[in-house]
Amino acid sequence: MSTFVYTHPSSLAHETPSGHPERIDRIRAVHQVIASPLFKSLTHRECPLGTEKQILLAHTEEHYRHMLSTAPESGFEYLDTSTVMSAGTLPAALRAVGGACAAVDAVLKGEAKNAFLAMRPPGHHAEASRAMGFCLFNQAAIAALHARSQHGLARVAVVDFDVHHGNGTQDIFWSDRDLFYGSTHQMPLYPGTGSVNETGVGNIFNAPLKAGDGRAEFQTAMENVILPALNLFEPELIIISAGFDAHIRDPLGSLELVEEDFAWATLQLMDMADHHCGGKIVSVLEGGYDLQGLAGGVGVHLQALMHGRALNIDDEEFEDD
Ligand SMILES: [Zn+2]
Repeated sequence: MSTFVYTHPSSLAHETPSGHPERIDRIRAVHQVIASPLFKSLTHRECPLGTEKQILLAHTEEHYRHMLSTAPESGFEYLDTSTVMSAGTLPAALRAVGGACAAVDAVLKGEAKNAFLAMRPPGHHAEASRAMGFCLFNQAAIAALHARSQHGLARVAVVDFDVHHGNGTQDIFWSDRDLFYGSTHQMPLYPGTGSVNETGVGNIFNAPLKAGDGRAEFQTAMENVILPALNLFEPELIIISAGFDAHIRDPLGSLELVEEDFAWATLQLMDMADHHCGGKIVSVLEGGYDLQGLAGGVGVHLQALMHGRALNIDDEEFEDD
C-alpha cells in the first residue's frame, strides 16, 4: 500500500490580493515537491467536489449558504480582514473538503497506507458558523466527522502543529468527548485562543509555546501533553492539521522549528497510529507561508508518511523505495 496525495488544480485558481501570505505560489511550491523523483511512489488522486452533506457535518447551514452567496464572479469579497474570496475560491474550498473526505475513505477502506491533502485554502480557523483566518470550511474537522458518520468510527483525533491555534477545530469539537483536539502553537498569536485552560469536555489539549521556542520546547509539549493524552484517548484514526508555519523561516510565526522537527512529529504520530489504529493517518495541509520552509516541511512530512523515516529532501543518501 502506498501513501495517497490528494490535489486539484482549483487550488491554483484561488486568488488572493497582492501581498497576501496565503497565495497561489504556496501550492505551486507543494506541487513542485511532490513532482520530484523522490516522491514517485506516491499515488496521486484528484479531489472530488465536497458535498453540502459533508460540510454540514461541521458547519451550520447558515454558514454554508453564506459562503455560496458571497462567492464573487470577479474581484475580491472579504469575509473578514484577512479572509478573501475570489471567483476561484469556492471551487477550491469545496475540492479541499471533498479531498479530505475521499482521503478518509481511502485510508479506512485499506486502499491507502495513509494520505495527505495538498490543497488550499487551509481550514483549521473555520468555526462551525464562520470563516476566518484564510479558512472557509474546516477540512480536518469535516474529515473526522465523516469518518464517524460514514465509517462508524467511535473516536477520532485531530493533532495540529500549525503555528496558529486551530480555534475552528476546537470550536467544532468542544463538547464531544469522542473527538480529540490536541494543538501545539505559538501564544500569544492569532487567533488568540489555545490556552491550557481551554479543555472542552476533557477532550481538548492545548500546549502553547512562546515566541523563540524551538525543538526542545516543541518536543516537550508533544511528549508531556499531546502524545500522552492521545494515547489515553485510543484514536481509531489520527488526522493531522499539518501547518508548516512554525518553521524558523516563516514570516507569520516566531517559533524555530526546522524540517527535522516536522519529521519527528510526524513519526511520533505514526507510532501512535501504529499502536492504536493500524497506522491510519490522514494529514491535511494548513499554513506555511515561507515557500522554502513550506516545501521542506511538506517534503519531510511526506517522506515520513511514505517510508516511516525522513531525510531532508536535499540529502543525497536518500533514495526512493
Ligand atoms: Zn498557521
